[in-house]
Order: sequence, then C-alpha cells, then structure tokens
Amino acid sequence: MASGIGTAILWFRRDLRLGDHPALLSALARTRRVLALFVLDDVLLVRAGAVRASFLDECLRALDGQLGGRLLVVRGDPVTEVPKIAEEFGAVSVHVSADFGPYGTRRDRAVERELGRRGIDWVAEGSPYAIPPGVITKPDGGPYRVFSAYYRAWLRHGFPPPYRGSPSGRSTVDWLEPGRESALPAAPGRDVPGLPPAGEAAANRIWRRFLRAGLDEYHTARDRPDLPGTTRLSPHLHFGCLHPRSLLADLAERSGPGAQALTSELAWREFFADVLWHRPDAARHNYDRRFDGMDYDFDSEAFERWCEGRTGFPIVDAGMRQLLAEGWMHNRVRMIAASFLVKDLHLPWWWGARHFLRHLLDGDLAANQLNWQWVAGSGTDAAPYFRIFNPTAQGERFDPRGDYVRRYVPELRAVPGKAVHRPWRLPEPPTGYPAPMVDHAHERRVALERFGRISRAA
Ligand code: FAD
Repeated sequence: MASGIGTAILWFRRDLRLGDHPALLSALARTRRVLALFVLDDVLLVRAGAVRASFLDECLRALDGQLGGRLLVVRGDPVTEVPKIAEEFGAVSVHVSADFGPYGTRRDRAVERELGRRGIDWVAEGSPYAIPPGVITKPDGGPYRVFSAYYRAWLRHGFPPPYRGSPSGRSTVDWLEPGRESALPAAPGRDVPGLPPAGEAAANRIWRRFLRAGLDEYHTARDRPDLPGTTRLSPHLHFGCLHPRSLLADLAERSGPGAQALTSELAWREFFADVLWHRPDAARHNYDRRFDGMDYDFDSEAFERWCEGRTGFPIVDAGMRQLLAEGWMHNRVRMIAASFLVKDLHLPWWWGARHFLRHLLDGDLAANQLNWQWVAGSGTDAAPYFRIFNPTAQGERFDPRGDYVRRYVPELRAVPGKAVHRPWRLPEPPTGYPAPMVDHAHERRVALERFGRISRAA
C-alpha cells in the first residue's frame, strides 16, 4: 500500500509512549492518518488492584496529553471492540506491539482473525522486551532453563538500538480526532497516595536522574530496602512508558559494576518472559512438576496474618504493610516475605503470588509468578529449595539500622537501631506488636523434611 492512503489504527497496550516505538513506525510506513486507541479490558482490570489501575489511568492521561487529546479509550472486549472501531474508521490496518503473555496471545489471535474477516491487516511490530521471547534458544533449539546460560546467550545475541526518530508530534503524524466519546478516566483518578509520576516524560526523567545519581552505587545499594538504591522503573517498564531497549543502550555506553548489575536485572525480566512464553502453564502450575507432590498447609488464618503484616517477624511485616499501603515492596523484601510464606508457613506459592499480583504497582504475570516459583524452588534455575531465608538475619543484614522496619511498623518506632529486628528480646515487648507466629528453626526443618520427601520420590 502506498504511503499516505487510508487510516491505520495504533492499538496501544503495554507500549504507552511515542518514542522508540516500532509499531507506530510501522503504521506510519502505511499512512500518516493514525487513530490512537486503547481498550480498557475488564479481564485484565479485575486482576489489578486500585494502585495499578490508578497508575494505568495516569499513564493514559499522560499519553492523551502527548496526543493533543486524541487518544480514543473504549471499554470492552478487544475481540469485538477493535474490529468494530476499525470498520467505523475505515482502517486498512491495525498496528500493535506484540504481546507474549498467555491471555494476550490468545486475545491477539482472535482479534487478528476478526480483522482478517473484514479484510483489515494485522501488523505486530516490537514487543515489551529488548529481545522477544522465543528468540534466544539453546544450540539444540530448546529453551533455556537456567538464567546464567540464558544471560550469556542474550548478551551474545545483542539488542537492536532504540528506534530513534519516532515522531512525537502532530507535525509528522496526523492523529485522527476520534469524534466520539472516550472512556479516558477523568483526573485525578482514584485517590492512591504515593503514586509515582506516570507516562513517558516522567519515566525518562526518573531514568536520567538515576543515571546521574544512582547507577554507580546500584550494585551495592540495590539490596538495601532502607535506601533509595534502585530505579523504581518496573511499573513504567510494565506499561511501556519507556522501553528496556532505551535503558540497555544507555547502559552499554557505560562501564562499571553498577551498569553490569542493572543489565543483568533487565535480563531477568526478559528471561522470565521467555520462560512463560515456552511454558504458559507456569503462570498457575509448578514449572518443576516434582513439586506437584509437595505437602502444603492450606491454613487461611496464617495466610491472613501474612497478608496483613502480623507475623511477628519485623522485616516481613514491614514489607507486607508497605505493599498494602503503597503497592510497593523492595526486591529483597519480596524475596524474604515470599520465602516466609512458602518455607515458614508452608503455604502454596500461588496464594502469595495472587496477593502480590493484585496489590503490586508493577504486578506483571511473568515476573511475579516466576519469581515466586524461583523462591519456592519449583521454578527455573538451580535455586535450591534448601536455601531458606532466616527472616531475622536477613533483616539485620539488609536493614542494618532498622530504618525500613520503623517506617512501616509503627508499633516498633520507639525501638532503636537493629534491635528492631528482634523485638522478642527487648526487656519489655512493644505494645500491640505480635510475638513471632512460628519458630523459624523448627519450620525450617519441616520445610526441608517435606522437600526431602518429594526429591526422594522423584
Ligand atoms: P531495579 O533494581 O531498578 O531493576 C531494574 C528493572 O529490572 C526492574 O524495573 C525490573 O523490570 C527488572 N528486574 C529487576 N529484578 C528483577 C527480577 N528478579 N525479575 C524480573 N525482573 C527484574 N517485578 C515486576 O516487575 N513485577 C512483579 O510482579 C514482580 N513480582 C516479584 C515477586 C517476587 C516474589 C519477587 C522476589 C520479585 C518480583 N519482581 C517483580 C522482581 C523485582 O522485585 C522488581 O522488578 C523490582 O523490585 C522492581 O524495582 P526496581 O524497578 O527499582 O528494580
């Protein structure tokens, strides 16, 4: 088709930006007349808690601002809505960044089929990853199961540079005036305290600031929940306010342990997406099927105490309370809280994963479920089940002054220094704070014994 003829639809999903946007460029290769569309899909929205839903609202408003108020937002099932709108606007093609998640893949196949029936082209260009799932394979063509091997192959493969020159203004794109009512959420949205600034400009600002002031120390500070040592970009990466390709290009221009550590963390994100692409069942079931025989306790009272941050283990409680208050938890604390659920309370990992996915601002199916499985021992990698976090020792090591705990556990605010990690040792136990709900040393033995049974049976 000659450039400049007809209308194309750019259906935004997890790519809420205008820069470094291959799908936008593919639309422009056909025509300058582009309709910007977003579909609020209840299937996805019900999984998101108020925090993530509010952040999405903010991202959409920011994008609409960049488009001069021309983002058409509709609510409904994309399988019916996208073809309907394409017909209404006489579109010749619908352009997307490919989605590799289990639901997104099924949905996209159905939309493509419906468009095909109407003679409208489906063009998938780009993805939320620097290297899309399925590309990095072992020499025998199979998928990697171990991160370190995947990482080496991922680095060897290399990533394309950012797609610079994506048009960001209406001088190069004739964004269509939708001319119909849009379901764009009205400002200020739901009242969620502490929501980070959303959208492409905000994400780039955060990144530039981190490059200047955080990167050099990242490899050491990233494990400290009491310090602002990480990028906090995961929600922006999730919704595509900026692309990992752009981050990796900036990191490639730098050297040093900070840049290397951050490159490797971004690779974990890609690895887990790749794993889920090959094994979509791993979103709900044990990746390592030996764990199907694991003996779990289905104790809903214990689960409730964990969710509410009333376990009596300060670092776990601080994390769980931060999650409920802010939709956030530091990576180190996520690992400690997850390990506690699986190996001290012997609860099924998918209970905890569901709670995290609902409340996390950056809730992401691949990253969440596979990190949970990694902690539980049922996932990829040689993450050994017998490496069991001691929540007290972890707290003392990674929150050495106790500042993080005091910030989120008001009952412990008067306890000075790292004594906050062992409140049961204080001459007077702090009022209102629970005693430890389990004996860690004992539960550790129980966890090992249960693991021993499934490994012997295998
Ligand atoms: P940084 O340290 O600045 O890292 C930069 C980016 O690298 C992150 O934004 C993220 O995109 C990626 N990244 C870093 N660590 C990981 C990792 N272990 N796995 C995958 N990607 C990583 N991350 C999510 O984005 N969504 C989730 O739902 C999620 N659930 C998790 C659940 C558990 C039990 C655990 C242990 C980890 C989970 N993570 C999840 C990974 C990690 O905790 C977050 O990506 C990180 O804390 C986000 O903070 P940041 O952006 O400051 O990270």
